[in-house]
Amino acid sequence: MRKDPPRAAVIGAGPSGFYTAEQLLGSGFEVDLIDALPTPYGLVRAGVAPDHQKIKGVTRVYARIAGRPGFRFFGGVELGRHLTRDELLERFHAVVYAVGAADDNRLGVPGEDRPGSHPATEFVAWYNGHPDFADRGFGLSAKRAVVIGNGNVALDAARMLVADPAELARTDIADHALRALERAAVREVVVLGRRGPAQASFTDPELRELGELPRADVVVDPAAVQLDPHSAAWLESGAADAGTRRNMEILREYAWRPLAGKTHRVVLTFSCSPVEILGGQDGSVSGVRVVRNRIELGADGRLYAVPTGQEEVIECGLVLRSIGYRGRPLPGVPFDERRGVIRNAGGRVLGDDGAPLPGEYAAGWIKRGPSGVIGTNKKDAADTVARIAEDAEAGALNEPARPDAGEIAAWLAGRVPDLVRWGGWEAIDRHEVGRGEPLGRPRVKIVRRPEMVGVALGTSSQTRARDANCDVTRQ
Ligand code: NAP
Repeated sequence: MRKDPPRAAVIGAGPSGFYTAEQLLGSGFEVDLIDALPTPYGLVRAGVAPDHQKIKGVTRVYARIAGRPGFRFFGGVELGRHLTRDELLERFHAVVYAVGAADDNRLGVPGEDRPGSHPATEFVAWYNGHPDFADRGFGLSAKRAVVIGNGNVALDAARMLVADPAELARTDIADHALRALERAAVREVVVLGRRGPAQASFTDPELRELGELPRADVVVDPAAVQLDPHSAAWLESGAADAGTRRNMEILREYAWRPLAGKTHRVVLTFSCSPVEILGGQDGSVSGVRVVRNRIELGADGRLYAVPTGQEEVIECGLVLRSIGYRGRPLPGVPFDERRGVIRNAGGRVLGDDGAPLPGEYAAGWIKRGPSGVIGTNKKDAADTVARIAEDAEAGALNEPARPDAGEIAAWLAGRVPDLVRWGGWEAIDRHEVGRGEPLGRPRVKIVRRPEMVGVALGTSSQTRARDANCDVTRQ
């Protein structure tokens, strides 16, 4: 008698979800990739900045994975809302959580939640047309904005605030964001790093790009690139990585570069922590009270920012807090609150007793935290799938009662009337690309769920037949 291949559910159709699906297909699994949105690609669609279209080209790789036999996509299905963890375990030999990190870290300073102070992650989701953020408003009538944090998301946010709308109009930026940025009064963006330039976590290509913006000068105080003794010793010791060395070269060049008198400016400020987000009479953001820091060597060998007590106020009307993403717990799935990730060892989800839970795994940011570039997730997914293959070999996977492909498709369709299958996504994709073509844009995004679903479910009989055929052949 033919033994059916084992069946895996991968929750989250971002880069980690696709790389996990690819590895699982290669290990003999059939894979159902499930996403809360009707559209796939996670942060490649809703996180990578619109002026980084080359990076977004990685979706071609994911589309090829989706075309492989044994792969199915179910969009618009939310774990915890439409289905439970137990229901997944009734149906799949392995469930891999690859949901990324949906929340943002908190600064923990007074005034953090004032009107006009937002997590940068929301600004990013808004300009990228994520449907849950399409109606957000940001205080773009402010002349000065402060971006708190020194990572690549902070640089993305700063760049978008001063980018030339004519250039953005050639990208897939959400139309609502393009219109708002065209009208924006922001002329200066101050990027605040709590530690020194040698501790910044942004990468050198992104830093260099900042200096090539047509509308904005980059301002770096020459005093800021005179390193403190600890950082200087570290940089000279040879222990510093090549990226940090390149960052320092670029920052020194910015510090001495004459201003070109452009209309906009990005001011990179270091060794400065926010102490309070200040409000005006109406309560909305009027400034940030900051304290100057010095860099000190901790007992663990790490360099820390220590407040000097010297304070100042940076007046501004918009604050974007870009201090890192944080994983959001999934109902019923063990969570490490301290690290903001699913409790796991090498991708195996761990129960309260510290032992692996059969058939449950994690991959990507929800496994290791929000670090690395898109490609980092490929190796990460391979590591998790290697654990799954070991467990399969040892007979230690989950034993589902109802692993039937046809029944699973019917169950999901029963739970989510607006279920979007891969053919439906292809219809959305064609529609968006078609709208972009006459405008010379890669696509014009649909930003409302009902419209996405309408386009997806109005798919041609050919794409519907393809999806139906997928289910029949796997029953
Ligand atoms: P990140 O690289 O971890 O940067 C977070 C920044 O927030 C750090 O500078 C950190 O400073 C600072 N920070 C944390 N807590 C703070 C506090 N209480 N007060 C002030 N500053 C604080 O995170 P990210 O920028 O969100 O990026 C996430 C990941 O996505 C990264 O791996 C990034 O490279 C990647 N990404 C890549 C691209 C690209 O390749 N173009 C674009 C976007 C994102 P400390 O170092 O002092 O903790």
